[in-house]
Amino acid sequence: MQGTILILDGVATNRIMLKVQLSAAYYRIVQGVDLASLPDLLNRARPDLILTAMKLPDGTAAGVKAMVSTNPALAGIPVLAIADQPDRQAMLNALAAGIDDVLVQPLNDLVFQARIRSLMRLRDGSEDLPLDTGRMLGFAEAAPPFTGPSRVALVTARPETGLVWRSHLERATRHGVRNYRMTDVHALMQDPVPDAIVVEVPRTNPGPALALLSDLCARSATENCVVIALADGASPQCVADALDRGAQNVMTTGFDAEELALRLDRDLARKARRDRFRLTVRDGLRAAVLDPMTGLYNRRYALPYLTSILHEAAENGSGLALMMADLDHFKRINDRHGHAAGDAVLVETSQRLRQLVRPADMVARVGGEEFLIVARSGSPEQATRLAHRICAEINARPFQLPGAPEPVRVTISIGVVAIGPFSPNRPDVMDLMNQADRALYESKAAGRNRFKMIEAAA
Ligand code: GH3
Ligand code: MG
Ligand code: MG
Repeated sequence: MQGTILILDGVATNRIMLKVQLSAAYYRIVQGVDLASLPDLLNRARPDLILTAMKLPDGTAAGVKAMVSTNPALAGIPVLAIADQPDRQAMLNALAAGIDDVLVQPLNDLVFQARIRSLMRLRDGSEDLPLDTGRMLGFAEAAPPFTGPSRVALVTARPETGLVWRSHLERATRHGVRNYRMTDVHALMQDPVPDAIVVEVPRTNPGPALALLSDLCARSATENCVVIALADGASPQCVADALDRGAQNVMTTGFDAEELALRLDRDLARKARRDRFRLTVRDGLRAAVLDPMTGLYNRRYALPYLTSILHEAAENGSGLALMMADLDHFKRINDRHGHAAGDAVLVETSQRLRQLVRPADMVARVGGEEFLIVARSGSPEQATRLAHRICAEINARPFQLPGAPEPVRVTISIGVVAIGPFSPNRPDVMDLMNQADRALYESKAAGRNRFKMIEAAA
């Protein structure tokens, strides 16, 4: 099942024809006849896409869009309107109302199916969150109106076409417009990457433009851009191809500045919502694995990561060292200089540790003043040298602390477990951590500001 589509149409034969067309592509279909039935259908079916007739017995497609927008959790669902006959003004009104696209009967099956696929892809992912999570992250609000002007690139086969289009578009939109030649698209990929790219797909030689569409949607620099294809009089095969390659919209009735401006606004608003969602997820992931005060990995990240490093080292026959490091008499620093000074020691210690290890090694804060260091591909001798340098680096340079009259001397103790290259012993993570803890305890008992190394027990 690829998703749920809600069909709204007052005419039974239309509903049946659409249902047959869509069921063949394995969508789940839910049907309604009018606007009045919509709220209940939305709540029951949670559709991924709404397909509505331009005119309903008790309203219009714009009314459908307005009603969907009032339900914050469903506001991002794409709405596709189907008109009985071409009507430019009605289409512009529908786009202005926020409808994603208008198709005119009779529907070409190839184009229709590609349009459905492309609209399904437009979902931003926030719909998949449990409702409460979405609300907490701010995704249950209707998409905020898109405010700032964006950068729009016009890519044409001939520069003259681009200049004419640009002069018309600039009068219809507040976005900044720049021209690019089809043959000079590498300029497009450079900073600052445009927010929207409009690509001319010439009827006589569509190949290079179609290849460009694939390229834009596959490259990380441009994959999140709005991409609109302007394919005047293109064949249904070419339109479907453009949509499947990742164009969000294909305009087939020639350049129309007003229509293009409306589509840009619509798609840029959706992009803003998708960008916001992506950043929220990225920030959430970062928060889930990093300690906010020191920026080091946290315990939750460190342990599974250590497991994977152990497997990797076993496969490669490489050595590694695991160290538990704990600041000495840290409580005294808090007691004497205050909690803020204690925090500053933790931040400074983290920076020094990070500078001492190699990029492939890992430093994590696994307790209040406890750090886990995993040094990869090292011999026991290398582990000894690193532990020695860590103790020296913390001890040798007193810490400048807020509220302390003069620099404060800090020391650290370390328990080291070394696993030599090709060691037959690959104990599990908790075993290793326990061994490192015991070695740390011995360092503390032996007077602190030192390390104790053991080779991993059989
Ligand atoms: P030892 O040499 O035996 O390790 O002594 P210690 O004082 O370092 O160890 P102890 O476990 O007695 O005290 C650790 C202190 O670390 C107690 C706790 O208040 C403090 N601490 C834990 N997390 C933080 C933090 O995030 N910030 C600050 N400022 N202090 C913290
Ligand atoms: Mg301590
Ligand atoms: Mg401790």
